[in-house]
Amino acid sequence: MRAAAIVVAGGSGSRMGRPKQFLPLAGATVVEWSLRCFSAMDEISQVILVLGPESLAEHGPRLAAGKVRVVAAGQTRMGSVRNGFAAVAGDVDAVAVHDGARSMITPEIVRATLAEAVKSGAAVAAVPVKDTLKRVPKGRAVVSETPDRADYWAAQTPQTYRYDVLKEALERFRDDADATDESQLIERCGRSVAVVASSYENFKITTPEDLIMAEAVLAARAGAPRSTKVGFGFDIHRLVAGRELWLGGLKLEHDKGLLGHSDGDAVLHAACDAVLGALGLGEIGMAFPPSDPKFKGLASREIVAHTAAKAAAAGAEIVHLDVTLIAEEPKLKPHYAALKASVASLFGLPPERVSLKAKTHEGLDAIGRGEAISCHAVATVLAR
Ligand code: MG
Repeated sequence: MRAAAIVVAGGSGSRMGRPKQFLPLAGATVVEWSLRCFSAMDEISQVILVLGPESLAEHGPRLAAGKVRVVAAGQTRMGSVRNGFAAVAGDVDAVAVHDGARSMITPEIVRATLAEAVKSGAAVAAVPVKDTLKRVPKGRAVVSETPDRADYWAAQTPQTYRYDVLKEALERFRDDADATDESQLIERCGRSVAVVASSYENFKITTPEDLIMAEAVLAARAGAPRSTKVGFGFDIHRLVAGRELWLGGLKLEHDKGLLGHSDGDAVLHAACDAVLGALGLGEIGMAFPPSDPKFKGLASREIVAHTAAKAAAAGAEIVHLDVTLIAEEPKLKPHYAALKASVASLFGLPPERVSLKAKTHEGLDAIGRGEAISCHAVATVLAR
């Protein structure tokens, strides 16, 4: 399946004061949400964006990227569809025509219309009418009839056609100024137009209150907003002769090392506990119990990988790690830059998101006597 999409955004926006396609919506503009949907679909090889003259000059150069090409609108909607169709390049099986102001379109709906169009020639996304319909003749404010609602669907877009079917309709009906959508031309060709059940969320943004509802739909799809969480971690290990000294994922030259079931890397242990703390996911001992013989001699970078994977799975982002070592020996200042770079790289963070510093314990207690090294860490995390 190879298909093209024509996104029609040629309107001048008389009801919204300015072209509604370029009003801001959930971090982008109205029309960009449609472009994103089609551009992300493997089946869509090209997206033809049809813009009015002012929008073309102002936004055309920026939007003509990736699969998107920009062409000028015609005098009417049908003229715009013709211009878009003329720009479709190469062999495609189907063409989806979409209103640029239906920002909530999803790949699932597009796919359903593509499948039906290839099968039967023409498919229109639509929803059953929810309200009771009243026929009110023009110029009167009196109901003349209540038709059976069950017979009515509200047509949306995409309206998707097999390439040859749309070509035939556009060639046969050159004078089509009265048609409000191209599926009417398909009907005039004597062909049937299939209806594909769509979503009520795929409404057209026409009036200012539609923008408020569109924001709500897109925010709901994105999930709950993330907020800043802070986690704290602490670790301490005995400093003994005959062990390698591992800190922050680096082996430091020293005649003693940290005693532990793993490599004893107090920096990584404290940092991981801080991240897990911010996420409310317990502490590293739960996934790597010190009693489990399979973790004997574990490289602590494995613990970091586990922690980073937990954060990613929760949709969280580590914004900053602040690490404070407390050690009488060795002197750590010469290692600050290397330690910081190592911790950042293990967590997949840019170095400026990691702070690392060390203090002595002023000769007091076990750390002061050089019998242990401890570490404190604070993690700032964006999470839901
Ligand atoms: Mg530890």
